[in-house]
Amino acid sequence: MIYADNAATTKTSRAAIDAMLPCFDTVYGNPSGLYAFAQQAKEALEDARARIARCLGCDAREVTFTSGGSESDNQAILSAAKAGAAKGKKHIISTAFEHHAVLHTLKKLEADGFEVTLLDVHENGIVTPQQVADAIRGDTALVTVMFANNEIGTVQPIRAIGAVCREKGVPFHTDAVQAVGHIPVNVREDNIDYLSLSAHKFHGPRGIGVLVARKGMRLYSLIEGGAQERGKRAGTENLPAILGMAAALEEAVQNMETNAAKVGAMRERLIEGLAEIPHCVLNGDRNERLPGNVNFCFEGIEGESLLLLLDDKGVAASSGSACTSGSLDPSHVLLAIGRPHEIAHGSLRLTLCEENTPAEVERIIDAVREVVAYLRGMSPVWRDLVNGKTPFVIP
Ligand SMILES: *Cc1c(COP(=O)(O)O)cnc(C)c1O
Repeated sequence: MIYADNAATTKTSRAAIDAMLPCFDTVYGNPSGLYAFAQQAKEALEDARARIARCLGCDAREVTFTSGGSESDNQAILSAAKAGAAKGKKHIISTAFEHHAVLHTLKKLEADGFEVTLLDVHENGIVTPQQVADAIRGDTALVTVMFANNEIGTVQPIRAIGAVCREKGVPFHTDAVQAVGHIPVNVREDNIDYLSLSAHKFHGPRGIGVLVARKGMRLYSLIEGGAQERGKRAGTENLPAILGMAAALEEAVQNMETNAAKVGAMRERLIEGLAEIPHCVLNGDRNERLPGNVNFCFEGIEGESLLLLLDDKGVAASSGSACTSGSLDPSHVLLAIGRPHEIAHGSLRLTLCEENTPAEVERIIDAVREVVAYLRGMSPVWRDLVNGKTPFVIP
């Protein structure tokens, strides 16, 4: 099996597993205990926090452990909204192609009387700092723009957007789940106030993440209970996962340049090989994209059938985000970049990591070519296109 769905989740690295194992049978104390045995766990917890902070360019006190990207997004947005509302500010700016953890939280806030401006993301899948500047008002409580998109992989000009927000005094949150561990992210240098990350997107374990909230930024707990995480997140700390996350992050940051070069070269070859298929289009900017992300639309193809036949050929891929598969709605991300419905349905996302090989990339190219040709051969829609009965959308 060729695993090409690393944006959905990744294999847990050996380093992460090795860091976790002692927590199950040796350092298993509850960090809140007062005896020496618990203090060992407490020290491991705080050591992990400091190491993660170092990787992110922030202070350890700004790091709160959560259950992952979705929880961090929810908590950051709801906290900033509550802090804003207390000052009479009930306007939030975001983009049309955010992850549902952001979009659905914003929907909830709209029902509570907030006004949400969703910025357009252009055909290349990138938001400009100028768009953000133009949308900021006196009553803007928060700007939330993702660092890199999970479907089309486009990387946003986060540092410049952060600078605009800083200048106007508006808190800035970024969902950096797809970026952290893959491309350089630095909370201070990138002018970020709130940042979400999730360990399982960079070879850490699932169910653990971080919410960074810079000094002075409010954080309200979503979960009532104990005083863990300085009262910002109740519940016994998931120490094994936290140590696994710290190890995975350090490894990813250490090897970032080498990995990005290797994965980026495979991405280039994959794009080149797939672009030779007639009537297809690459989704997202050609250059400003994550090292491992390839996303194409093929005219006259149903994404679901494409995925099932690729699976038969031993290629694990996706048509968009894991959250949209299972529903028949086309991806909101592809609609946001202006792909018409019939084209958005025929999308394929392949996301590589450093464990993939150039030989696998060649096998993926062959498999996609065969499957696309096979599906088009059976499709009445394709016949009408070829016979000129209906015009091609993708030239
Ligand atoms: C995966 C993902 C999330 C959700 O993270 P979980 O840890 O799975 O909750 C949020 N945002 C983006 C961009 C993601 O890719």
